[in-house]
Amino acid sequence: MNPRVSRSGPLPDGTADVAVIGGGVVGAAVARELAGRESDGRPLSVVLVEARADVGDGTSKASTAILHTGFDATPGTLESRLVRRGYELLGEYAGRAGVPVERTGAVLVAWTAEELAALPGLAAKAAKNGYLECETLGAEEVYRLVPALGPGVLGGLTVPGEAIICPWTTTLAFSLDALARGAHVVLNARVKGVEHDAGEETLLLTSRGTLRARWVVNAAGLGSGAIDRLFGHERFTVTPRRGELLVFDKMARPLADRIVLPVPSSRGKGVLISPTIYGNVMLGPTAEDLRDHADTSTSEAGFAFLVDKGLALMPALLQEEVTASYAGLRAATEHGDYQVHLDAARRYLVLGGIRSTGLTSSMALAEHAAGLLAETGLVTSVRDDLPDPPRMPNIGEAFPRPYACDDLIGEDPAYGTVVCFCERVTAGEIRDALASPLPPADLDGLRRRTRAMMGRCQGFFCGAEIGERLAPLEEPR
Ligand SMILES: Cc1cc2nc3c(=O)[nH]c(=O)nc-3n(C[C@H](O)[C@H](O)[C@H](O)COP(=O)(O)OP(=O)(O)OC[C@H]3O[C@@H](n4cnc5c(N)ncnc54)[C@H](O)[C@@H]3O)c2cc1C
Repeated sequence: MNPRVSRSGPLPDGTADVAVIGGGVVGAAVARELAGRESDGRPLSVVLVEARADVGDGTSKASTAILHTGFDATPGTLESRLVRRGYELLGEYAGRAGVPVERTGAVLVAWTAEELAALPGLAAKAAKNGYLECETLGAEEVYRLVPALGPGVLGGLTVPGEAIICPWTTTLAFSLDALARGAHVVLNARVKGVEHDAGEETLLLTSRGTLRARWVVNAAGLGSGAIDRLFGHERFTVTPRRGELLVFDKMARPLADRIVLPVPSSRGKGVLISPTIYGNVMLGPTAEDLRDHADTSTSEAGFAFLVDKGLALMPALLQEEVTASYAGLRAATEHGDYQVHLDAARRYLVLGGIRSTGLTSSMALAEHAAGLLAETGLVTSVRDDLPDPPRMPNIGEAFPRPYACDDLIGEDPAYGTVVCFCERVTAGEIRDALASPLPPADLDGLRRRTRAMMGRCQGFFCGAEIGERLAPLEEPR
């Protein structure tokens, strides 16, 4: 483990230039970006503070994982601008860091006369968002693209730029990059209070003790409203909007080789069918406002709703096995846009209310944050001694994985020893994940790094062996 990753014991000494609260995809992107900047001729010192034992363990682990073009954002909003920019930045970064992306494209399908009438307006909206590639299609053309769709399609709109991406590798890549740039990652440290001393320091009172920083960036996702109130603001309230999804077996993949989108409504993007980067097909998400910020359980009602939807959208999909279901909580607010506010007097920046597009916009949010901090004089320039991005292990189904690479196995037989047979995860990959600068804290963290136990058997066959391999890491440290 990198010595700058801390899960227990004493917190880092001294005063960081910036503390970023929240180790989701947004906070990790911000920590990476700021650790690559200078302040008065020296690297900015950055600490990423996360309540949980691992990065990427909140909303960022449970999305539909689409790299959005931003075609359907509300034109003129900050979200529209940052999704578009984030799409470019993350698309380019993914190539350099080895984050798996499949450029599948999407087709938006109209099932009612009202939805059909909405298609030209959606194409015009896309154009206002700077996306000019949409084309309207007749029903026959839609069926040609996605033959498994149920009866009743009236027409469609193509969105060729929509893509699928690995959300887990993205957050990990940002975090590892931030570490390589000199940032600290402090885990198991929930920020519970904030104090300002007479000088230029903010004291973050965490569950593991006090951290000191000159500036604080709040990227706490579902907790961003609560942290904003600790800084004396009453600007927005986060309402967790639960999205439940069903993941179908890999046998279903030929049914959906591109993303099938519904016509969006005022409640959000609606229920879609999408291939996943791991070779499955997913159906979802639902949209249900909750009060509990931690309720990521799935529900009978959500399951029934998705089965009904799925039967209408693609009956053949519902003949396939469901491998898993999960739920994520979007950080919705009463506002129609991201909540990004700078409070220079308190040396504080909030990136809150990042609802259903934060994976895509993460790098653009980070760039925007650096720009705002540059206006305050904190950040001066980009460092000229930055390391290359980390090269992430591939867990995407469409790209070579160790079990199938003879050269790799020849050099190191551990890559030929399959431990998780459903997902073909090898002993070498598990060993590498456990030895990485930011190792998993538990089985779920190992799953996000390797795909172990996320297949048909959900760990029934390999769970015990994988648990044993993980055991030494789970000793208190
Ligand atoms: C069902 C669903 C589908 C989605 N689909 C897509 C999609 O296809 N494409 C896309 O681009 N986006 C999508 N999103 C949105 C995207 O997942 C989110 O916008 C993004 O993950 C938000 O990242 P975050 O870092 O802001 O939040 P999080 O990942 O929740 O990170 C915030 C972190 O802050 C920590 N934290 C909270 N309070 C404190 C505290 N007091 N002290 C310390 N740490 C704290 C939390 O533990 C958490 O780890 C989807 C979301 C959902 C739920």
